[in-house]
Amino acid sequence: MSEVMPDFQLARPTTLDEAVVALATPEARIIAGGTDLNVQLRMGLAAPATLVDLSLISALKTLESSTSGTRIGAGVTLADLASDERVAAYYPAITEAAALVAGPTHREVATLGGNLCLDTRCLYYNQSHWWRKSNDYCLKYQGDICHVAPKGNRCRAAYSGDLAPALMVHDARLEIIGPDGIRQVMLADFYREDGADYIDLKPGEMVTAAVLPPPKGPSGYRKIRVRGAVDFPLAGVAVEAEETKDGKRFTIALTGTNSCPIMVDMPDVLTDDPNAFFANLNKAVQKAVSPQRTTTIAPHYRRLSIAAMAARLARELV
Ligand SMILES: Cc1cc2nc3c(=O)[nH]c(=O)nc-3n(C[C@H](O)[C@H](O)[C@H](O)COP(=O)(O)OP(=O)(O)OC[C@H]3O[C@@H](n4cnc5c(N)ncnc54)[C@H](O)[C@@H]3O)c2cc1C
Repeated sequence: MSEVMPDFQLARPTTLDEAVVALATPEARIIAGGTDLNVQLRMGLAAPATLVDLSLISALKTLESSTSGTRIGAGVTLADLASDERVAAYYPAITEAAALVAGPTHREVATLGGNLCLDTRCLYYNQSHWWRKSNDYCLKYQGDICHVAPKGNRCRAAYSGDLAPALMVHDARLEIIGPDGIRQVMLADFYREDGADYIDLKPGEMVTAAVLPPPKGPSGYRKIRVRGAVDFPLAGVAVEAEETKDGKRFTIALTGTNSCPIMVDMPDVLTDDPNAFFANLNKAVQKAVSPQRTTTIAPHYRRLSIAAMAARLARELV
């Protein structure tokens, strides 16, 4: 990473209204903790005219919990999220996922909003400018071809945020503010299976909070990564287990294998034949994912690992 920061204007709004005004300026881009975006700026992957720094907006930093649910501001840091006792008690998958993002110093400034809106990643994209130039760039930025799937017509970069699946199994909604006011969207509907166009944010919009209903049951999060102390998920899985009148029902969400986090279609409840049930669960996860050559780790290994992690975690929650 040898490149210098590009020139930009820095806007530092202190209210949401000021932020919306700042985001309406041409080629404006949000910066929250900056732990991912700063790297991208240095690599020449983004050159916004204006950076809108959200760190002075106190309205984004609140975490409120009551019997009707929990609201986590987009500016809450992952360190605060990982150490919040209410979140740990009701939504353990979120606590576990937050604690596994990057390293401790990243988590001190990295935010929930930045994690949920994290750019997709690929071996051919997260590289220096000279590396990408010598490869004729790629479909995601400045090029015409996806080097991972050259015959396809979309970018295969992988969504690799840890928190999205953990919030998705708890039925999170996102609060979004923009030029047309405030709207809400289910987090599971916020993402698209397209590495170059992976979130449903219109120009000038920003995420203000995630809103969670009361939990249906216990949950957990597991991931595999190259460097155990600090790394993106090669594959990550969140599971929530709910006791229903028909038996135990599992909600499963995945990250790291596709261009968006995905929910697994799991119609069955845990039967009196647990071995058959967990074998089916393993198969359902393998069928749901489509890992590509976006990392140095083989797609097939990531497929098998995520399915094994899902089945193991579901068993642990019983
Ligand atoms: C060495 C290293 C290891 C890492 N490991 C992991 C990991 O294990 N797991 C993981 O998930 N991430 C990892 N990351 C990426 C990053 O640190 C985290 O995802 C972090 O949570 C990003 O949050 P941030 O506030 O720093 O976002 P920023 O870098 O400020 O922003 C990230 C993106 O989100 C957008 N954005 C930020 N806030 C909002 C908002 N409120 N509304 C709309 N858009 C917004 C920005 O415009 C930008 O596109 C790693 C990064 C590094 C450098």
